[in-house]
Amino acid sequence: MNMSIVRVALDVPLSTLFDYTVDEGVAVAPGQRVIVPFGRRQMVGVVMECAAATDVSPERIKPVMQVLHDSAPLTPGVLDLLRFCSDYYRYPIGQTVLSALPARMRSDKPVISKPILSYRLTVSGAALDLDTFPKRKVVQRRILARLAEQPCNLAQLKALSATVGTQLKTLEQEGWVEHYEAPPSPILSHHGERGLAVEHIFDNAHTLTSEQQFAVDAVTQASGYACFLLHGITGSGKTEVYVHLMHDALQRGGQVLLLVPEINLTPQLENYFRSRFPVVNLISLHSGLSEGERLHNWQQAQLGAAQIVLGTRLAVFAEMPRLALIIVDEEHDSSFKQQDGLRYSARDVAIFRASQRGVPVVLGSATPSLESYHNAQGGRYQMLKLTGRALAEARLPTVRCININQTLMYHGISENLLREIGLRIERREQSLIFINRRGYAPVLMCSGCGWLSGCKHCAGKMVLHLKDQRLRCHHCGYQIRVPHACPSCGNADLHPVGSGTQRVESVLRERFPDARILRVDRDSTRNKRAWQTMREQIHANEVDILVGTQMLAKGHDFPALTLVGVLNPDSALYSSDFRAAEKLFAQLVQVAGRAGRADKPGEVLIQTAFPDHPLFRALQTHDFEGWAASQLAERQMAGFPPFVYQVMLRAEGKQESEVYRYLNDARMAAVALGHSMDPAGSVEILGVVPAALPRRANHLRAQLLIQSANRRVMQQFLRAWQPALDGSTTPKLRCSLDVDPMEF
Ligand SMILES: [Zn+2]
Ligand SMILES: [Zn+2]
Repeated sequence: MNMSIVRVALDVPLSTLFDYTVDEGVAVAPGQRVIVPFGRRQMVGVVMECAAATDVSPERIKPVMQVLHDSAPLTPGVLDLLRFCSDYYRYPIGQTVLSALPARMRSDKPVISKPILSYRLTVSGAALDLDTFPKRKVVQRRILARLAEQPCNLAQLKALSATVGTQLKTLEQEGWVEHYEAPPSPILSHHGERGLAVEHIFDNAHTLTSEQQFAVDAVTQASGYACFLLHGITGSGKTEVYVHLMHDALQRGGQVLLLVPEINLTPQLENYFRSRFPVVNLISLHSGLSEGERLHNWQQAQLGAAQIVLGTRLAVFAEMPRLALIIVDEEHDSSFKQQDGLRYSARDVAIFRASQRGVPVVLGSATPSLESYHNAQGGRYQMLKLTGRALAEARLPTVRCININQTLMYHGISENLLREIGLRIERREQSLIFINRRGYAPVLMCSGCGWLSGCKHCAGKMVLHLKDQRLRCHHCGYQIRVPHACPSCGNADLHPVGSGTQRVESVLRERFPDARILRVDRDSTRNKRAWQTMREQIHANEVDILVGTQMLAKGHDFPALTLVGVLNPDSALYSSDFRAAEKLFAQLVQVAGRAGRADKPGEVLIQTAFPDHPLFRALQTHDFEGWAASQLAERQMAGFPPFVYQVMLRAEGKQESEVYRYLNDARMAAVALGHSMDPAGSVEILGVVPAALPRRANHLRAQLLIQSANRRVMQQFLRAWQPALDGSTTPKLRCSLDVDPMEF
């Protein structure tokens, strides 16, 4: 019998494809999922190519067991994208390809996607007179009004209210609404098929400012690939620009991919964009979805039925046959970089994907990453600026520093700040106290011998959580009860040093016993609904003082908030991570942007020992340009990104000697290779050093940094270096290569 050969990507840590035979006559194409035998197991793989011949001997090659037809094959475009990622990030091809798929498509069970239900009015429902419908049944009225316009699926209706599910049931019981299995959503083209007038696909509620209009025009007039950096101050209306760009792409029959950094923000954004595009099929892709939902949404994107795909970094790999525009919101955010497995930057992959597909990509931020900013200045990206706030009366907050060495402090909070908080409470306005450490205090100390509450498994300290009387390690999760006496000298006088959210909360409760105080951090929002409830409380002005971590800094609009206090930002100023100051600046701009977004002017007070530091000066004058210029000059002098490309080899293991032997061997191989690179010395190999946290969960950690001013040379070097790395690792070590690392 005649056979053909297929090369299959499998989820195994080897940088190779595996050859199998397929009977002649069995249709199989690249991108198709197959079940194949592998060792004693059977695995799901993806056919990457069909071949005429193989190097595997005829008696060893095995046949494909089954070709899966339950989902359309991946397109050549996405396969190329994944090949590029595997090569660029030095991650095994099979693991790269399989990790891009929803979990259901990685299992060998058939993929069954649940049909989506749509809702419409029944005859008696259509006959209802809404003017006489009970006014207090607000949600039911809204649903009926909406369905009177056209049938909707549940996701579209959910934008109306959180209680839509139960209200729909009632309406169905009354016999006014019925559900049915919807055919795939209509695909809108510029002909406005199915009678949907294109003007109606978007709620054009706002007039654009001239800056916004300029940005919209620049992108919509681009033909083919172009990368835009949309640099807009907080409150300048970047989202409105996105909405208009999306509308333009949808009108031309395209699909839009919108990437956002934070899974916490997606439900809000989802509702917002649904309200602006009421009849458009919008789906989300993020790790918070159930496996079934994720599969369903992924397939909607793949079929072209989803017109807008809103997702976190993993969505960058979603199949989108009519992709016409990519937007990366908050492009500077480090959560676009995956920190394990395939260590990709979704922003960078998005740019590659846009160029591959010949479509525009827009990177938006109030504080662009220095990489993107540098690219825009050099002309590789086109800079678009929004310098005014969208609401003319909304002014930027005033920023002041409080010198903690020259002012009266009350348990870590200055009297000035406390006074301002008191004024806000009188005026029924909200204050936000921002501190980037959860727990009560970062460390417990013995006043007798200086003992500190170190974690016995890590090089870090255990954080005091007073509420449940525990010391907890935020690195490895190890926890113990708070000791009654010093474990080292027996002294009973142990006291907390420094502040965390819990301590700030209790200090404020003491000072403002009648104020309504809400703490928002990872501990208080562990429960999925908790954060949602808290947001509603804040919006309803049922909170006077918010105490929170960076969770609160991102993207939330709290109209009554007029004061932001920042406690202890100084450690970032002398951090060993060269990006720490850049991250702090972005974070403070974001958190400052929470103050005074409506018609009330906002004020930001920063407690610092270095009030004259250029970072705070730039914040006070809202001078991103000046700040970025000084940072870039420093980076250039020091030879840091974006002027060089970096790769970090990390290793960790229980035996220090093994960790260092591996890294030193790798370094020797690198040095030898470096001499042979052209031009010689174009790759710089640094020394093997301990990681910033040298011990975590009883594993010793060390790293080796490599850099080059030339990306292409760096890629050549890595390809040549890889075999030496693969050859010398042992099962006892955890090693990883991180291309363009974000953490040091
Ligand atoms: Zn002691
Ligand atoms: Zn620990």
